[in-house]
Amino acid sequence: MRKNILLGLIGALILCFAAVAFATTTNTNKSAKETSTSKNSTKSSSKQAATSSSSSSSSSSSSSDDGNDNVIYLTFDDGPSDTTAAQLLDILKANDVKATFFVTGYGSDDLIKREHDEGHQIGLHTMTHNYSLVYSSVDAYFDDLKQISDRVKRITGQKSMMVRVPGGSSNTVSANY
Ligand SMILES: [Zn+2]
Repeated sequence: MRKNILLGLIGALILCFAAVAFATTTNTNKSAKETSTSKNSTKSSSKQAATSSSSSSSSSSSSSDDGNDNVIYLTFDDGPSDTTAAQLLDILKANDVKATFFVTGYGSDDLIKREHDEGHQIGLHTMTHNYSLVYSSVDAYFDDLKQISDRVKRITGQKSMMVRVPGGSSNTVSANY
């Protein structure tokens, strides 16, 4: 069980690095702006958003006239937000864009269900997003991760294997706890 989660985490990180190589500066900035719902400080928020804009799973792809086949992976963290998620989903649907939502224990079940039903990918971002809890020990992290995994499975009927760690994957945040 834990081994599978670790393998998923490693896979997500590899995809993240691969996606960075393909992300264009313009669209990365746009995506970062759209994912600026992070509850972190401005500095870490922008760093996390930049990472978010190029991470794993579902994507919107574009083929320009010049044959450039770059792919942008649009992801959103910390949701679902009861105040903004519905509008965000409306915008994505109107533009026929798919995204990945790394969800927490917050927000309504209906929003996660809608994200899933409308073809977006659901990833795991911990249940509490509380640094002092999730980074207090290895067991605490995986206990929290199991809670959000169970929530997603209960709502969507599918087990998500995509994980994004709160505060970014550089360990500069987790090392403080
Ligand atoms: Zn977050």
